Amino acid sequence: MFDALSGKLTGVFDKLRTRGALSEADVMEAMREVRLAMLDADVALPVVKEFTTKVRERAVGHEVLDSISPGQAVAKIVNDALIDALGGAGAVPLNLNAAAPIPILMVGLQGSGKTTTSGKIALRLQTREKRRVLLASLDVQRPAAQLQLQQLGERAKVASLPIVPGQSPVEIARRAMETGRREGFDVVILDTAGRLSIDEALMQEVREIRAATSPAETLLVVDAMTGQDAVNTAKHFNDAVGVTGIVMTRMDGDARGGAALSMRAITGAPIKLTGSGEKLEALEEFHPERVAGRILG
Ligand code: GDP
Repeated sequence: MFDALSGKLTGVFDKLRTRGALSEADVMEAMREVRLAMLDADVALPVVKEFTTKVRERAVGHEVLDSISPGQAVAKIVNDALIDALGGAGAVPLNLNAAAPIPILMVGLQGSGKTTTSGKIALRLQTREKRRVLLASLDVQRPAAQLQLQQLGERAKVASLPIVPGQSPVEIARRAMETGRREGFDVVILDTAGRLSIDEALMQEVREIRAATSPAETLLVVDAMTGQDAVNTAKHFNDAVGVTGIVMTRMDGDARGGAALSMRAITGAPIKLTGSGEKLEALEEFHPERVAGRILG
């Protein structure tokens, strides 16, 4: 992820850094290259435009071009703008400030990695934060889905809600919360059904589950490999049901990185976590400043 973008941007700034004085034309030329590199990396056009405008405005200020090492000053401005695009400094933690059992609602399209991510979050909360977690699959669309989550729970040594055939998603959600209360769980992770595409029935189902459980987090899981589709999916979900955070999976793949760079500006929702593999431990917090550092090499 980010390899091609990183290679190109590093090239642009290496060139600038080795120069003494810089002119406004040098900055304009560098910004043209940055713009092309970002478009190549599949960053959304409005995000690229805003990014390069912001950098140009800051960079052509006299303090920068007249500074001792203007190339480095411009690189620093780009670094800061990357951090902004990625969501600002610091990771945005999961919100666990609610009365137990805290409901966390997982939403997303089928195949995005939602069920795996539910297991990963459960494992993380249980081992790192010492919270007792209950996993519940509300997916009555795919016959094997509830079983899949139960097996993930067994692998992670996290409890899962017993499967009762014939219940609706809302009924399962209510039963999960009741079980959570009765049995003293701290967190209940509600894994909703994924669909092949966004449809109104899916959104209505999510709205009903939300109304029944008042989740502290509604986390949307998207696949980084799907690029701009991931951003469009996130925008739709956020507009339709409200999303409190994004989990971007398959960061271990060779995605070009555009989705991560466009997500905040286009959807308004922060990327809170990323998935970097199939293993249950492969879940990381999203630190914009570290990602920006990686992109600029
Ligand atoms: P769901 O349909 O959204 O619930 O998707 P699943 O959780 O069943 O995941 C679909 C496939 O993606 C499975 O084979 C997972 O092991 C895999 N997967 C999930 N997250 C990641 C990730 O971060 N990286 C990689 N490489 N594979 C992942």
